[in-house]
Amino acid sequence: MSNSRQTATQSQQPQQAGKLFQFKLVLLGESAVGKSSLVLRFVKDQFDDYRESTIGAAFLTQTICLDDATTVKFEIWDTAGQERYKSLAPMYYRNANCAVVVYDITQVSSLDKAKAWVKELQRQADPNIVIALAGNKSDLSARRVVETEEAQAYADEAGLLFFETSAKTATNVNELFTSIGKNSKLEMKFLRH
Ligand code: GDP
Repeated sequence: MSNSRQTATQSQQPQQAGKLFQFKLVLLGESAVGKSSLVLRFVKDQFDDYRESTIGAAFLTQTICLDDATTVKFEIWDTAGQERYKSLAPMYYRNANCAVVVYDITQVSSLDKAKAWVKELQRQADPNIVIALAGNKSDLSARRVVETEEAQAYADEAGLLFFETSAKTATNVNELFTSIGKNSKLEMKFLRH
């Protein structure tokens, strides 16, 4: 096997050989759970402790190599603030290939809100959408109120990918997006090549 083999990590200059998949990815979840922070960590490998919650939509792209033959470009729609303008949400998730529904492990209400978003996506989004549940702020273990097992059981039952993440410490952030890329690829018949 070649030493230059790239694993599923972020790459500034993604390998263009092989197939290029492009996925529209939306983030949903209660305000302040860390949606924008997860995107910032994934796209720029940065974290801002004092960031204000975003209002409005931000649009970013990030490209990762899943393996020698597969590159994935995410068009990320950070819909922060959409919880205040709920009627706009369908505009964001229409035609989305994948969704990250985020809750905060220190806020029970944020998991309830995440479940409501999952229900809405499963009813109204593309039936092939790949949905991941992200329990963010896993670094705040002393303030944890949502147990991993509880969220995992819900994710299994609802057919979601599941990761506990920390945008602050970068825990599981690349793993989350890589897993979404791999699973979305399985739905490739609906996508551009
Ligand atoms: P959004 O409204 O869901 O986009 O949330 P933001 O990304 O704006 O984050 C809200 C607040 O939570 C900010 O003060 C962030 O610094 C903080 N935050 C986000 N992710 C984490 C995390 O993984 N750990 C900790 N400790 N704080 C986080």
